[in-house]
Amino acid sequence: MDTNTFSDAIELAGAGLKATDTLVTIAGRIKGLFQSSQPGSDEEMKTLLAELTLQVADAKLANAELKIKLTQMLEAHCIEQQSRAQLDNYRMKKTGIGGIAYAPKNLPDDDPEFHFICPNCYEDGKKAFLQVKSRHLFCARCTTEVPYEPHRGISIV
Ligand SMILES: [Zn+2]
Repeated sequence: MDTNTFSDAIELAGAGLKATDTLVTIAGRIKGLFQSSQPGSDEEMKTLLAELTLQVADAKLANAELKIKLTQMLEAHCIEQQSRAQLDNYRMKKTGIGGIAYAPKNLPDDDPEFHFICPNCYEDGKKAFLQVKSRHLFCARCTTEVPYEPHRGISIV
């Protein structure tokens, strides 16, 4: 998961809580003014109400931004889970001449749909198909090359 998004969300939650905390404090002061009914408190009341309005706006903004960040985090988490579930269908295999890549668990080597995916991208939680390039398998995503000999017997590591 993107740690920046996560720390942004924590910061926004903190900002929202701080604004809410300030709202409670201001509301308490307003309540105190109502109860005291001292002369000359109108000006202070106006100032407090203006401050209260600003704090409500800050809290609303922080909450809206927090909602967006949490939605982004949830989406990223779902995508990660889907990727991980796809990768669970692969296992490590030797590629013939000392190379290692990942291949589908449930496909025999002679199946027309048999393929390898990149071990480097696999570690990043990504599925990237390897393409045959002379005596190597090549990853277009991260440019990893894996030694490959198609008829030297692919075996499970
Ligand atoms: Zn790769």
